[in-house]
Amino acid sequence: MRRGLTWFMVWLALFSMSSASIGCSKGTNSDAQADPSTNDQATPGSETESTESYVPVEVESNWYAVTYVEPKTYVIREPQSSQGNVSYLILGDKRAVMFDTGSGENFPVNGSKMTHIIDQITDLPVTLLLSHFHFDHNQNLGEFDHVAFIELQYLVDGTSEDGVYTFSQNEILEGDYPQSVEIDEWWPEGADIDLGGRSIQVVGIPGHTDESAMIVDHANKLMFMGDYLYNGELFVFGEHNLSVYEQTLDGLIANYDSSYALYGAHGYPVVPHTDLQDLKGLLECISTGACVPKKTSFWGYEVHVFFFNGMTLCLFI
Ligand SMILES: [Zn+2]
Repeated sequence: MRRGLTWFMVWLALFSMSSASIGCSKGTNSDAQADPSTNDQATPGSETESTESYVPVEVESNWYAVTYVEPKTYVIREPQSSQGNVSYLILGDKRAVMFDTGSGENFPVNGSKMTHIIDQITDLPVTLLLSHFHFDHNQNLGEFDHVAFIELQYLVDGTSEDGVYTFSQNEILEGDYPQSVEIDEWWPEGADIDLGGRSIQVVGIPGHTDESAMIVDHANKLMFMGDYLYNGELFVFGEHNLSVYEQTLDGLIANYDSSYALYGAHGYPVVPHTDLQDLKGLLECISTGACVPKKTSFWGYEVHVFFFNGMTLCLFI
């Protein structure tokens, strides 16, 4: 637990340092920015529209701030969370996908910390997909009875015959929850997942963690990127993952032009597409040695903080 508390405090410390000299913040993750529901991005969703027009639901909550993005997508923020989490509920006509489960820092409502929000929005069957396994995205896992994993071979290999995956301490990073999960579906990378009138794909984007996955809605040009890219300081654990991060980034730049809208899992939801190029610059600056980090340590963990063109990356050595 002591180690867990330490990680939590490191996380908190880094997230709260936006104005401290160490930096470690991109400084663009304010909840005071424009409401994403008013975002006027192009939403060429006509090709997947159902015949009936959809009326967005207004959600009541004293914890979550829920806004709407066309088509049928709910942005579920936690402004009061220490993590500034953002989760996404993506609806089709026949089923829905919940992308992450929230921070778990709120008090339950009728025994639920998250599903009572979903229940206000839809009666569709909901499948949970985690953007990755870190503690700040999985804390309400137990409220979901249908879970999908990205079909990465090492995850398949690590799953028992009866479909149970046991998380490692490294994977959840902080605390000891959840210990395991029963997997109902494996979603192959790049395969179309039919939600009914809407199709999404899951794509592996390793770098922040090995299992990091994003959801792409090609028809509507939406990308939900988890902790790979969001408005705020990015975290890389271990120097070897810098090259993994960059390899993923090269694929993103090559495959997703500026017609795609990017959404992150912390801070202000909409991420400027130009951040992909800025991140490329940052990673190149690190790899060439041109970027000299500010070095600090938190309770024994050495952290190198790199800055480039408005972006910040915290490398845990
Ligand atoms: Zn996170």
